[in-house]
Amino acid sequence: MRIEAVELRIIALPLVTPFVAAHGTVTTRTAVIIRCLGPDQEGWGECAALPEPTYSAEYVDGAFLTLQEILVPRLLDTDGNVEATDLTELFADVTGHPMARAAVELALLDAEGRQRSLSLARMLAPRPPGPASAVTAGVALGLMESPEALATEAVTRVAEGYRRLKIKIEPGRDIDHARAVRSAIGPEIELSVDANGAYRLDDARHLAELDDLGLAYIEQPLPADDLLDHAELARRLSTPICLDESLTSASVTREALDMGACSVVCVKAPRYGSWLEAAAVLDHCAGLGIDAWAGGMLDCGLGRAANIALAAHPGASLTGDIAATARFFSEDITQPVVVDPTTASIAVPGRAGLGVDVDLDAVDRLTIRRDTVRR
Ligand code: MG
Repeated sequence: MRIEAVELRIIALPLVTPFVAAHGTVTTRTAVIIRCLGPDQEGWGECAALPEPTYSAEYVDGAFLTLQEILVPRLLDTDGNVEATDLTELFADVTGHPMARAAVELALLDAEGRQRSLSLARMLAPRPPGPASAVTAGVALGLMESPEALATEAVTRVAEGYRRLKIKIEPGRDIDHARAVRSAIGPEIELSVDANGAYRLDDARHLAELDDLGLAYIEQPLPADDLLDHAELARRLSTPICLDESLTSASVTREALDMGACSVVCVKAPRYGSWLEAAAVLDHCAGLGIDAWAGGMLDCGLGRAANIALAAHPGASLTGDIAATARFFSEDITQPVVVDPTTASIAVPGRAGLGVDVDLDAVDRLTIRRDTVRR
């Protein structure tokens, strides 16, 4: 699209309940959203960065500045049309900031999809068999004070229709919590745990106590940089290891798989800095028969729609983190994502681009900071 101006906003959505993980607590989900405006075209994107730099180095205010001062001026500095595939070259001199980059790419993909009457799901999975029309809903449960409270929450989510639960764990809130959930929901429901890097290789014997719980995987047990230690841990556990924070590019993902650091892949486009690269990782995993799934980041409506499109990719073989909007927010900037309780599934938007309607009144009401950068 030919971009005339780019609108950047920070919106603030209060969470229904605070979300607690080993990397920190989120009570209000602030997020950067981006809207690229052309003469007869527009495209929306959302930046996955959390309010504070806890999951990774990026955070909301930093991402806003990166977009405002670095990335968007490069977009506007081009003469003709800019397409999503141009961004690698356009941002070639910028190090890091994958989530901010992915937000720009998402806005361009949305615009291109609208122009070509293609859904984002179709753009990310262009080859046969193409994207699924619905994805299975999965929910991530934050850390809770007691195993009993977590088990009660888990039972509630299963009653809502969820067939895959992931629970956050950290030292002191792990084995007992996972065991309580497993015994409360029974053996049929897919269960996994996510440590967000809170353990060390020395904890291998302790983590092995998870092995009799029939977990689908343990996600990111060790810090992001510890690929070799993950490979060693994988040899000591029977529970499969899934990596999230460690997988910062397609090449790192290939290396992690090659060295046995993981046998399951969490694909997060914002972590890779690109929705197209995330789709390529899913292609790679499918080619190797490796299980993969699309992760989430407490996403608002735009990011959630994009994740659903990615989760519809045929390479996303396991259920991801995508839950109903109401699980997190009482208000959003798009129509809410709902889970069909009879099939435990979420419909994949089939309309062009992101396939959601942005509620401009809600955007205005929820905006706490804005700027429009013009050509
Ligand atoms: Mg994770």
